[in-house]
Amino acid sequence: PEVRELLVSRIRDVPDYPKPGVKFKDITPLLADPKAFSTLTETLADACVEFGATKVVGLEARGFILAAPAAVRAGIGFIPVRKAGKLPGATLAESYELEYGSAEIEIHAEDLAEDDRVLVIDDVLATGGTAEASLQLIRQAGAQVVGVAVLLELGFLDGRSRLAPTLGAAPLEAL
Ligand code: 5GP
Repeated sequence: PEVRELLVSRIRDVPDYPKPGVKFKDITPLLADPKAFSTLTETLADACVEFGATKVVGLEARGFILAAPAAVRAGIGFIPVRKAGKLPGATLAESYELEYGSAEIEIHAEDLAEDDRVLVIDDVLATGGTAEASLQLIRQAGAQVVGVAVLLELGFLDGRSRLAPTLGAAPLEAL
């Protein structure tokens, strides 16, 4: 509860960003506060240990900032999921629908092994489209998803329901 209070107090609501009517959750004040950032890192690293993760997958771009230090702290590897066209090696790809149009994300196939147990980390779960596509990527690679951890879940968008079929029994953790 104290941890939650500290972290929530460092997230800033930005009205009408990126467009009118949207209230954007800005995590940069949390990152700028070393106590909050290290507390969050520890919480995420604890989740890695608790779920027996062997790899952390971070989602571009803010997910990288949270996932990488957690992976280091938990003593396991970090793998980026990037927007299409950014990774130089052989990739697996997944497309997903946005409000207008679609997006594609990729992962380096060779960085995931079939026996890997993966924790997926991002800053915010909104519609769940990005996280769902990431789970499909990990599944394509033949690895197992042991959980999804986000700092914040925008409950009114119900990304949790969208993720449920792909996530199965694996937990979705949010503040
Ligand atoms: P989704 O695919 O769940 O609709 O959107 C999630 C992605 O969009 C995440 O990668 C997240 O970083 C970004 N996102 C959507 N809304 C917000 C927000 O209010 N604040 C932040 N920081 N990221 C958001």
